[in-house]
Amino acid sequence: MRILLTGGAGFIGSHLVRRLLAEGNQVAIIDDLSTGKRENIIDLEGNENFTFYEGSILNYKLMLKLVTECDCVYHLAAAVGVKYIVEHPLDSLITNVRGTEIVFELAHIFKKKVFLASSSEVYGKNGTRPFKENDDRILGSVTIPRWGYAFSKGFDEFLAISYARERSLPVVVGRLFNICGPRQTPHYGMVIPRMIEQAVKQEPITVYGDGSQVRSFTYVGDAVDAMIRLMNTPGAEGEIFNIGSPEPVSINNLAKKIKELTGSSSDIVFIPYTQAYNNDFEDMVYRVPDISKIKDLLQFTPNINLEEMLKAIINAYRSN
Ligand code: UDP
Repeated sequence: MRILLTGGAGFIGSHLVRRLLAEGNQVAIIDDLSTGKRENIIDLEGNENFTFYEGSILNYKLMLKLVTECDCVYHLAAAVGVKYIVEHPLDSLITNVRGTEIVFELAHIFKKKVFLASSSEVYGKNGTRPFKENDDRILGSVTIPRWGYAFSKGFDEFLAISYARERSLPVVVGRLFNICGPRQTPHYGMVIPRMIEQAVKQEPITVYGDGSQVRSFTYVGDAVDAMIRLMNTPGAEGEIFNIGSPEPVSINNLAKKIKELTGSSSDIVFIPYTQAYNNDFEDMVYRVPDISKIKDLLQFTPNINLEEMLKAIINAYRSN
């Protein structure tokens, strides 16, 4: 298969491209290197089945060429990280709205199947129990940039589902829940690489708010596995799936675990959200997926638990 992967130099994309190449595909990636990094894919550049296009998904002419030349598209290009989104709300919106429109418009014209990488952000702050795909979404005020990201990812999903229903385009949507693993940078705010870096450098480990907020973290290898299997399963077409781990952890306990596993003498310190981001910020108190839908279809459950993934990321960080 000839596969087009948007956002292929990003953290998740750089894992997905390796898996797709290992399965014998030809993969072209497009990445504007805004949050992706050349180092993530530099070792692939001699591979005859791999091509890297440095460019934006907003470049219609380039996208026209790339979509024409592929058999299917994995669309991952998007702004990443709460910190980045809060600091660049307009860029994030334009990429998610106009960029994704271009992807679907071209995929429809040339009849190419699309996997849309969406985000658990779309659930917003409706956080009282594990989220099911059809749950209501509750987003806050438009003055809070984070909700713009959630809104635009929701728009992407509406677009995907509408192309599927009204234009018979084969699409699959995956909502990713706090994916982590080696090569994830701490620069855009993600908690695990940040805390591991702080712990290894014996710097204070920063917990935002009171640390009672709950997340579930998913190893990138498991997420990539789910994405490929969904894309290869006709029964997944036109559907939305949570991709994540159902193992909840509070951010407080995550900080303690990272301190313990790194053997660090760092203090765990509490930083108010207003200091970490700004006044226009809201966090989600609880964000954990119900994964029965993907489990029923693919018998998918994550292979790597939180402790195993933290150890793997700590080892990778230390060996760099
Ligand atoms: N967080 C934290 N310390 C940090 C970075 C993040 O306590 O140095 C918190 C953040 O406020 C959120 C959780 O960790 O409650 C997960 O943050 P992340 O940005 O990784 O992803 P989110 O789930 O918010 O999209």
